[in-house]
Amino acid sequence: MQKRKAKAEPLTIPVKEIVSKRLRTKWGEAVVDGTIVLNSSLKGYRRLLYLAHEAAHLARWKLTEREVRSVSTKIARVLWRDGYRRKDGR
Ligand SMILES: [Zn+2]
Repeated sequence: MQKRKAKAEPLTIPVKEIVSKRLRTKWGEAVVDGTIVLNSSLKGYRRLLYLAHEAAHLARWKLTEREVRSVSTKIARVLWRDGYRRKDGR
């Protein structure tokens, strides 16, 4: 069943760039300028999961960490189940 909302809110900050860096103590980070930094050791589903997580932070800064985790886990599972993968297979 499809639910319709009156009007979707626009994303507060679009994703500017996705950077893969070797981070020592965390898996990812969302920067206020719209950049998402992901730990370069992440591959496959875990990379998608953390990408969705940081994108959720960018979309809604006011969400709690728990809310972001809940939303991003659901989105990552749906995308992964539907076959979304990086082109290079990593
Ligand atoms: Zn977070």
